[in-house]
Amino acid sequence: MEETVVSKNFIEQIIEKDLAEGVYDHVMTRFPPEPNGYLHIGHAKSILLNYGLAKQYGGKFNLRFDDTNPTKEKTEFVESIKADVEWLGADFEDRLFYASDYFDKMHEAAIELIKKGKAFVCDLSADEIREYRGTLTEPGKNSPYRDRSIEENLKLFQEMTDGKYEDGSKVLRAKIDMSSPNINMRDPVIYRVARMTHHNTGDKWCVYPMYDFAHPIEDAIEGITHSICTLEFEDHRPLYDWVVKELGYEQPPKQIEFAKLYLTNVITGKRYIKKLVEDGIVDGWDDPRLVSISALRRRGFTPESIKKFVELCGVSKANSSVDYAMLEYCIREDLKLKRPRAMAILDPIKLIIDNYPEGEVEYLDADNNLENPELGSRKLPFSRELYIERDDFMEEPPKKYFRLFPGNEVRLMNAYFVKCESFVKDENGNVVEVHCTYDPETKSGSGFEGRKVKGTIHWVSAKEAIKAEVRLYENIVDEEKGKLNEDGTLNLNPNSLTVLKDCYVEPSLASAKAYDSFQFVRQGFFCVDCKDSTEDNLVFNRIVSLKSSFKL
Ligand code: ATP
Ligand code: MG
Repeated sequence: MEETVVSKNFIEQIIEKDLAEGVYDHVMTRFPPEPNGYLHIGHAKSILLNYGLAKQYGGKFNLRFDDTNPTKEKTEFVESIKADVEWLGADFEDRLFYASDYFDKMHEAAIELIKKGKAFVCDLSADEIREYRGTLTEPGKNSPYRDRSIEENLKLFQEMTDGKYEDGSKVLRAKIDMSSPNINMRDPVIYRVARMTHHNTGDKWCVYPMYDFAHPIEDAIEGITHSICTLEFEDHRPLYDWVVKELGYEQPPKQIEFAKLYLTNVITGKRYIKKLVEDGIVDGWDDPRLVSISALRRRGFTPESIKKFVELCGVSKANSSVDYAMLEYCIREDLKLKRPRAMAILDPIKLIIDNYPEGEVEYLDADNNLENPELGSRKLPFSRELYIERDDFMEEPPKKYFRLFPGNEVRLMNAYFVKCESFVKDENGNVVEVHCTYDPETKSGSGFEGRKVKGTIHWVSAKEAIKAEVRLYENIVDEEKGKLNEDGTLNLNPNSLTVLKDCYVEPSLASAKAYDSFQFVRQGFFCVDCKDSTEDNLVFNRIVSLKSSFKL
């Protein structure tokens, strides 16, 4: 491999400068998901980036649920997010926090701002607030309630908190500048009246802080130094800075934005995924065609492969899409040396060796991974009746077809040469049996050098093989055909899932457990499905095929 000089990304440069100049004496990062859905590959990037930076600079990493918006949040999502972060190896130790744990402190902070004359209670309706706000080209107008006295504001805010006012009838606003060129600074709403039951605090509150007010306070309370978020928050940064400054935090956190990760040929939007789940098009948030973290895990991706992928993507300020093939490349690279190989027949046809003794079974040696001898070897049962792939036989082969056809000889992988003597068709003209003879001299590993064959095919012994279900996947949408239809619905690939129910796998797979993965020779990498696979009905998901056009 060529040696490359790894240059620091722009976030590392900021952190190193801050540490050198004594702006901070430590590094503390966090991942702040809103528990309103399952995490996806984009979140994995954010998790690994935040965790990685903390680790790199001897700092700490927090997991914090940003649960300030009770209507959309569910405990199911909290549990799945925790499991995903842990699975990725981003260790938050004992630092699992909830923004809602800080509601008291946020409320106190709001009162502090009122006392400083920096916040006021406003009676304008949501529509009026919008009207007064102005536009990108025109300044806004001051609210008629902007000059209420501190005493009056304190009293009204307390009454809002006590439930005296209807939802939406009054809000607390920061008093900043209605003529600011940045609309976020035009007296933004920081607290609203909303009667909502919260999954953590129940009915304790009927006033809730707005995200832009809550988030910097959460970061400051936890001693976060570098608050890393995505680009859409860039225009909110002046407000973030205003909040931490006005509240007088020491070593206030610094917001840094980076570009979201987008992947081609997949769906990441929660709204779309939710609809696919609700319409029963996918079998849950973890359907292997999705790129939620739980779906990737179910499909057979490893934390290492996702880390590698995120590293390859890098960190930048410019939005761009990454090719799904790069993710496939990463999982192939990760599994190639780690996982054992096995033989599996996805579309079986019988192969009968006419000159092999009936009822006899011999056990042949097979390496588990040719490139990694440490994985050892196993014994494969071999007998007179085998299954091979249907497309490894052709009655009338085209040129350069080196597999089985009448009169041709091939190697059965890890076994013997067999020569096709005849075949049997059913009444519909489909080939149902291929008859061969074998040459006992040609056993694999025996050093036979008499003649060569051009094709090697895989097989399983019919009697000993285990019946299994195999699921093959294609991308759920095709970027080139357009992800969306004209009416805004998803343009789904009708072939995204193929279920093969009559596959046969070698008997060594009998004890395979959920998430175990294998390289099925010539077919790709496969993983035992964690939801549907049982001892009596093994189900394998294809993670990725063996070949790719992707080049690093
Ligand atoms: P979505 O838009 O997919 O619903 P979100 O931004 O609403 O995602 P949050 O739970 O609010 O999801 O995000 C948690 C963190 O993950 C935030 O810091 C956010 O910036 C980051 N994040 C979300 N999507 C991506 C992405 N595609 N790439 C990188 N980081 C992301
Ligand atoms: Mg969000």
